[in-house]
Amino acid sequence: MTRHVVIIGAGIVGAVSAIEALRSGLRVTLVEAGPAGGEQAASYGNAGWLSSHSVIAPAEPGLWKKVPGFVLDPLGPLAIRMRYLPQVAPWLMRYLASGWTEARVEKTAHALRALLVDAPALHHDLASAAGVAPLIERRGLLHAYPARSDFEADGLAWRVRHKTGVRWQELQADALHALEPALHPRYQFGVWVGEAGHCRNPGAYVGALVAHACAQGAASICAQATGFRFESGRLRAVRAAGADIGCDAAVIAAGAHSRALAALAGDLLPLETERGYHVIVDAPQMLPERAQLPQLPVMVSDCKAGATPMERGLRIAGQVEIAGLKAAPNWRRAEILRDHLLRIFPGLPAPLPAASLHYWMGHRPSMPDGRPCIGYASAARDVVHAFGHGHIGLASAARTGRLVAQLLSGRTPEIDLAPFDPRRFARPFAA
Ligand SMILES: Cc1cc2nc3c(=O)[nH]c(=O)nc-3n(C[C@H](O)[C@H](O)[C@H](O)COP(=O)(O)OP(=O)(O)OC[C@H]3O[C@@H](n4cnc5c(N)ncnc54)[C@H](O)[C@@H]3O)c2cc1C
Repeated sequence: MTRHVVIIGAGIVGAVSAIEALRSGLRVTLVEAGPAGGEQAASYGNAGWLSSHSVIAPAEPGLWKKVPGFVLDPLGPLAIRMRYLPQVAPWLMRYLASGWTEARVEKTAHALRALLVDAPALHHDLASAAGVAPLIERRGLLHAYPARSDFEADGLAWRVRHKTGVRWQELQADALHALEPALHPRYQFGVWVGEAGHCRNPGAYVGALVAHACAQGAASICAQATGFRFESGRLRAVRAAGADIGCDAAVIAAGAHSRALAALAGDLLPLETERGYHVIVDAPQMLPERAQLPQLPVMVSDCKAGATPMERGLRIAGQVEIAGLKAAPNWRRAEILRDHLLRIFPGLPAPLPAASLHYWMGHRPSMPDGRPCIGYASAARDVVHAFGHGHIGLASAARTGRLVAQLLSGRTPEIDLAPFDPRRFARPFAA
């Protein structure tokens, strides 16, 4: 009998897991509460970066000194809503502890590098299989700094990246502006990471992957999964919309909404949402002909945001807001991103035409140590956790899907999964 696996959530992690499970000969049913790749998913609205070099977890040594600013400045690049502080305090303590020393940052970096190392190539293969290869570009990513000293101030991150095998090209002002002429002249130093890539429409990409999985035999059910039925230590069914979906295995890939399901599978895990925003400028049809748009994805150090040329237009994404799953969006944060666009690309028309702008808020599924949970659940090895990919879920989903399929079919995972073990949080403040 073919093993039947129910995958809960059809964001990028669930979509890739479905394809890889089918490739491993499993029978697959995807259970998704919204449209695949729809606006409810983090996978829809990210910056599209397939940044195989994004190995530095968000917390760095000394970050604790900035916590009062995070609470007092509701519009800073990282903000914590005062009312949510008591609830998030334990997560925050673990978050700060995970980046307390350079050694801890380095340990996580090596683990993330194994997950990310060939992400652009893996995504290119997946997109080709799904018939959407042009959505994946492999032309590198650019980091722009006002001065070389700003790059040097980021020294820990680049030093650790180098130790994990990341290589890059440093660009003086002329070379930087030759590579990306749309950049503001105040950026005088750049770093080009050639191995990285980007996705030109993350929502459409996820939709195409799910359509491909269905064409390969996966079933798809539009419903909210609410729990599991275990009998004698084995999974018998996933509960969704008041009914039981009989199955032999399940994958929890519900992004920032995975915590309650993980608890029902025996694991109380510190999953939090780091809310983020994007603004997309429809182009070129909405902009005057003379508007100068960037051709490469760019991360600018002084705005802490990533701007990416996409199929639909120019997207800027960023901001971290710790306020839980339920609080209403603070659209002022998206307006800050919009204003950054004009500061980064002076060739855009100011003000940007209101009709060309679209705003979005979504939930990064974040573990405090910046590493996802990939591994068996405590209740039964029939349930696999695959969530908590934080800032790098699009890029790292390609390898995650392969690992999920390897766990489901009892094969040895292709990388060491110890750093992603969901049970690592059983030890207080372990890093
Ligand atoms: C502003 C921003 C910028 C980002 N930029 C990047 C980037 O450039 N590169 C990168 O790699 N990552 C980036 N990320 C992170 C990345 O988007 C996420 O890590 C990734 O999308 C998480 O994918 P996921 O499949 O785990 O979750 P999601 O995409 O959120 O998908 C989870 C799915 O599960 C469904 N679901 C939830 N609960 C249930 C349930 N009970 N039953 C059924 N279905 C359910 C949801 O409807 C949803 O569709 C960014 C995130 C944000 C917010």
